[in-house]
This record gives sequence, C-alpha cells and structure tokens, in this order.
Amino acid sequence: MIPGVRLVVLGKQGAGKGTQCVRLSHHYVVPHVSTGDMLRGEVKAKTPLGVRAESLMDQGELIPDEMVMEMVQVRLSERDTRGRGFVLDGCPRTIAQAKDLDEIVHPFGLELVVDLNVPTDLVLKRLASRRVCVDCGANYSTAAPPMVNWTCDVCGGEVIQREDDTEEAIRRRLDLYEAETAPLITWYIERDLLVTIAGTGSPDAVTRRVVGAIDVRRQKMRLA
Ligand code: ADP
Repeated sequence: MIPGVRLVVLGKQGAGKGTQCVRLSHHYVVPHVSTGDMLRGEVKAKTPLGVRAESLMDQGELIPDEMVMEMVQVRLSERDTRGRGFVLDGCPRTIAQAKDLDEIVHPFGLELVVDLNVPTDLVLKRLASRRVCVDCGANYSTAAPPMVNWTCDVCGGEVIQREDDTEEAIRRRLDLYEAETAPLITWYIERDLLVTIAGTGSPDAVTRRVVGAIDVRRQKMRLA
C-alpha cells in the first residue's frame, strides 16, 4: 500500500502551494487540508465563522488564530487524516498556530515541512494573472485559461479573479507573510523538520523535487 504522509507546505502567496498540495495529496493518497479553501467554504455557506472571516479575508488580513485552529483541530481529528495523514496548506501562519498544531498532531508529529521558495517579483506576476474556480478552487491564469469561456475544466464552475487578489490585498498578505509566517522557517529548522524547495519551473518539476525530498527524509529516518 502507498504510505501516507503528514506534511505542511509553507510558501508566499502565489508560490504554487495550492497546485502542489493537490498533486501531493493525490500522490500520497491523503486529504488536502487547505485553510483558505475551508474558510472560503464557510464564507459561501454564511456560517457564523464565515460571516466574521469574510471582510478580513477580502482585505488580506489574517483570521484570528483560535478561530482557524479550532477548524483545523476538527479536520485533523477525523479518521482519514488521523489514519493516513494530510497535506496541510495555509496553516500554520503564525508561531502561535504552529504551537497549537504541534498539540493537535501529537503523538504522531509532522513528517516534514516544505518551504516552497519563489522570488517576490515572480509571485506578484503570478498573483496578478491568477484566476480560480468559484466552486472547486481549481487554479488557472490569464496565460493558461480554461478551455471554454472561463468555465472550469474540472467542474464547470465559473472561473474568476479572487476578491483578495487586488493589488492592495496582495501587498498586505505579502507583508503579513514576512512578519508572521516567515519566522516559522527558523522555527521548523530548529526542530529539524524544514526543507526548502525551489518553487520555480514547471509544476511537474516542483512536485518531483518535493517527493524527492520526502524520499530522502524517509531514507534518513530509516538509517537513524
Ligand atoms: P493566500 O495564500 O493567497 O493568502 P489562502 O487561500 O491560503 O491564500 O488564504 C486566503 C485567506 O484566508 C488569507 O488571506 C487569510 O485571510 C485566511 N487564512 C487562511 N489560512 C489562514 C490561517 N492559517 N490563519 C489565518 N488566516 C488564514
């Protein structure tokens, strides 16, 4: 049987986290747990959490740690994620969230934290041209649109520019990434969990690099 994985993927907005996480979740046959997608689902369903989160998300602000971590705790306690693992996308985003996550995944722990590294000028270009399906979240760009008329190739949903992909909200998210999320890189290096992967090149090439890094890690753990 294909082994699962307990993976966190970090990276700036536009680094290709979403795309890679979907691929990795298929490769390891584990759920893709994206806090951004979960929060957008809450907004769409107009739940109390969604109602509180909507304007914060549109402005590119972070949702309070407790609100996000409660949602993550519930998802990571389910049978599938507890049994085979997960690819966690968009969380943790602060040191406080990383501490909570440690408790949530106890006693199994995380297998690896991947930092997808892409230069800021490239992520700005990617974000300006990014388009997403409102229904399934599939990613497109103005350079690689869906086949027919901004209708999603996967599910037939409408493909649009995200509300928070305005220049102002993008700038705010990148600033918050530097201030709140970048410190996690040192935090996970100190715990010997971090591997940095170049997020440039084709999506296939990036996936191969990540899978290769996980193989190397497993080899090392077997030898230890
Ligand atoms: P991006 O990486 O482009 O910002 P996401 O889809 O990961 O996109 O997140 C969209 C928004 O959802 C964030 O700007 C933030 O408002 C909220 N969000 C997602 N994950 C978290 C989190 N772990 N902590 C706080 N806010 C979050």
